[in-house]
Amino acid sequence: RSVITLSQISKVYTNGKVALQDLNLVIRESQFVSLVGASGCGKSTVLRLIAGLGQISSGNIDWGITQQARKLAFVFQDAALMPWANVEENVRLPLKLAGIAQKDSQKLVQQALALVRLVGFEHSYPRELSGGMKMRVSIARALVTQPNVLLMDEPFGALDEITRSKLNSDLLDLWRQHSWTVVFVTHNIYEAVYLSNRVLVMGTSPGRIVADVEIAAPYPRG
Ligand code: ADP
Ligand code: ADP
Repeated sequence: RSVITLSQISKVYTNGKVALQDLNLVIRESQFVSLVGASGCGKSTVLRLIAGLGQISSGNIDWGITQQARKLAFVFQDAALMPWANVEENVRLPLKLAGIAQKDSQKLVQQALALVRLVGFEHSYPRELSGGMKMRVSIARALVTQPNVLLMDEPFGALDEITRSKLNSDLLDLWRQHSWTVVFVTHNIYEAVYLSNRVLVMGTSPGRIVADVEIAAPYPRG
């Protein structure tokens, strides 16, 4: 079934920049969709509009799941960790903001840390971690909310190739186990093909989808 339907979406920023024009897109449940394209073609704009950040100039976004069932999480290129808080506290933050008591959030935090292989680093501070580990913390902080839709904006763009490959491989394993609906922005076509079961190529002037390619899953899920 479809989870996110974008119909005739246009986005014109207040400075007059037409970032998207008449974009149509249906994303189905458990699809791992990558958005690729040159810098400035509107990839982040699509992701932000799906997340409800910023106003759509025209068109609409329809959800195939109810508002209560919809659990979005966003991961950015910048891990954006709180430097004064340790790993565990950083991951717990969304639960704390949601008013969940520490005794109730402990198990969720541990589960999220286990998913990104950071058990044992609970008490480390961001400055003690490598770039890849910081990104794992950032992913754990997204997963701790138990999302079903994961929006990722160039999450591995700042990492070296080796770290990026490891994180890609781990992310793929996680997705196979959890079947989230993922929208993943990258300008790395190899990464897109490796991770996704569908690659959307965007062109500029104005931003729109110029190719939509389904990729057979390399391995059965499970
Ligand atoms: P609008 O109100 O035009 O839809 P937003 O509210 O989404 O725009 O964002 C406006 C902010 O984005 C501005 O305050 C500015 O700091 C920042 N910004 C402006 N130009 C750019 C750009 N080319 N790329 C990214 N961010 C920009
Ligand atoms: P991408 O993620 O593909 O690099 P973006 O969605 O960030 O592209 O930006 C698409 C276009 O819109 C670019 O030309 C960018 O400069 C412009 N843009 C992005 N955000 C803003 C903003 N807040 N205000 C004005 N222009 C923006």
